[in-house]
Amino acid sequence: MFENLSERLGGVFDRLTKQGALSEADVVAALREVRVALLEADVSLPVARDFIKRVQAKATGAAVTKSVTPGQQVVKIVHDELVATLTGDEDPGALKIDNPPVAILMVGLQGSGKTTTTAKLARRLKDREGKRVLMASLDTNRPAAMDQLAVLGVQVGVDTLPIVKGQTAPEIARRARTQAAMGGYDVVILDTAGRMHIDEVLMDEVQAVRDIATPRETLLVVDGLTGQDAVNVATEFDGKVGITGVVLTRMDGDGRGGAALSMRAVTGKPIRFVGVGEKSDALETFEASRVAGRILGMGDIVALVEKAQETLEIEQAERMMKRFQKGQFNMNDLKGQLEQMLKMGGMQGMMGMMPGMGKMSKAAEVAGFDDKMLRRQIALIQSMTKRERANPDLLQASRKKRIAAGAGLEVQELNRLLKMHRQMADMMKKLGKKGMLKQAMGAMM
Ligand code: GDP
Repeated sequence: MFENLSERLGGVFDRLTKQGALSEADVVAALREVRVALLEADVSLPVARDFIKRVQAKATGAAVTKSVTPGQQVVKIVHDELVATLTGDEDPGALKIDNPPVAILMVGLQGSGKTTTTAKLARRLKDREGKRVLMASLDTNRPAAMDQLAVLGVQVGVDTLPIVKGQTAPEIARRARTQAAMGGYDVVILDTAGRMHIDEVLMDEVQAVRDIATPRETLLVVDGLTGQDAVNVATEFDGKVGITGVVLTRMDGDGRGGAALSMRAVTGKPIRFVGVGEKSDALETFEASRVAGRILGMGDIVALVEKAQETLEIEQAERMMKRFQKGQFNMNDLKGQLEQMLKMGGMQGMMGMMPGMGKMSKAAEVAGFDDKMLRRQIALIQSMTKRERANPDLLQASRKKRIAAGAGLEVQELNRLLKMHRQMADMMKKLGKKGMLKQAMGAMM
């Protein structure tokens, strides 16, 4: 169902990317189509509505980078918002598994890829984190499932709890816990039984197992190809047993990852891993930008816009540097630097970052440079005319009086600013000659 979303967005953006300029009406029209596409793709109404609202606020009036089309720029904004929706604060790959032995409970519907994922995860923890892992199948309904896990265990070199016929799931969970403690295991992964659909009996059993195992992590395994159904499953499981994260399987298939978007937005639970194949190493840490790229199916454009933005910033910085080296450092430049300083934590913060200016940083501290002072200086520059800013030498007594009054400050303060400007211009020139300016600028950006 999400194949459709990608195609639709592709259609919308194809049209946009062929236009030279993008009006606000264009943004609104394009996003209306995006919204319809999201809804048709089974994304819930509030999720789609919220998403569109955020994108619209960002797209309207956003600066369009030179050398990309406005349509391409919109794609980038939609992409970034998808990433933001898909990501939380957490590090998806970092499971809470300190204080051994720790239990991880795997839950989900039958056929979702739970047993396969259990083995994949066990292998990952063993190989990448050097953990001693024990796996146990609690699927008492299907003896074949227990055998399947045992076979996988041999394949990936991870121990499985010996099968004892006739035990209930909670009994197996208790035995697994004891075995984990006695055997010196770091992690015990419990593969619970799945059903075709969610039912009371299943939930009761998972709850009973949970109470015995007291897992640090309860991971829900869902088939990434099942769209909104997957979200319903997640909501149910979270309500009944409380999940700490989601594993989306079959992300190697045709699905566009739309389930990930709804899942994250609706449950608020982090997607931790994605299954990308049947083999035991086909488990990846969830990466929002990759999934966003799949949903949009427009990775190339996103990369293009990023590259263009980078190039533009570098070009601007290089142009500025060339002027500075020639001693062309006017009031507009100074204003830019002062604003940059404000952003970077004041004078001391910036000076500390520039090579050879550690001493100036100390001096700035002594002289009482702070945010308030920076703001006053910016106000003074704003009070100058365009010509005065370009050529500070014009500033004689009457002009100075006018400028200071315009900023509501004393002429004395303006004189201090002018002195600083001269010092900085000289410094830029000197640094430029020594080839250090490039280095200094690099540290600031
Ligand atoms: P369970 O019933 O939830 O334990 O599901 P299984 O682990 O037995 O998996 C069901 C089928 O899905 C098996 O054939 C797996 O090989 C397959 N499978 C699981 N995860 C993935 C995945 O990420 N990608 C692909 N292509 N197949 C998967």
